[in-house]
Amino acid sequence: MNESEQRTERNANIWAPWRIEYIRSLADEEQGCFLCRYGEAPSRDSENLVLWRGTNCFALLNRFPYTSGHTLVSPLSHVGGLENLGGGAMCEMFEMVRDLQCLLSKAIGAEGFNVGMNIGRCAGAGLPGHLHLHVVPRWHGDTNFMPIFGNVTVLPQALGELYARLCRTAAELNLPKLS
Ligand SMILES: [Zn+2]
Repeated sequence: MNESEQRTERNANIWAPWRIEYIRSLADEEQGCFLCRYGEAPSRDSENLVLWRGTNCFALLNRFPYTSGHTLVSPLSHVGGLENLGGGAMCEMFEMVRDLQCLLSKAIGAEGFNVGMNIGRCAGAGLPGHLHLHVVPRWHGDTNFMPIFGNVTVLPQALGELYARLCRTAAELNLPKLS
């Protein structure tokens, strides 16, 4: 494999796991929209790994992470496209992305981030009806172990510990700073 092919292979490994969201969602479909369920149940935030709530949006840990600290930012309303998202919610989503970067850098030493959206089934959206942004922490040299993360089942206990740590660090940093 030449250098260019190796790079392509690596990129495939990095991005392909996003598609798993769609596959997993098929099994979950009959339970309805999980983001709406989580959004409507503030009393279950710690169980649902919800980190923050704003006026229009909320941030949560992805239950099926493909790196440690993989978080989601979503509007509270069931909106599928950016064209249906109000300016307030749009702004708040990116404020949360900014604050998550700050939090994840401090709490788990993230060195970089992939921030992105899958819009529409063909783009890999597992939940095409409810828009959400992925914030995926990255580290220098992490490409070698990325494919492993894409296929392992993360223990709920590990996620719970990470959630507690992020909540503690967020409090220390006085985050989120929502205007
Ligand atoms: Zn929804």
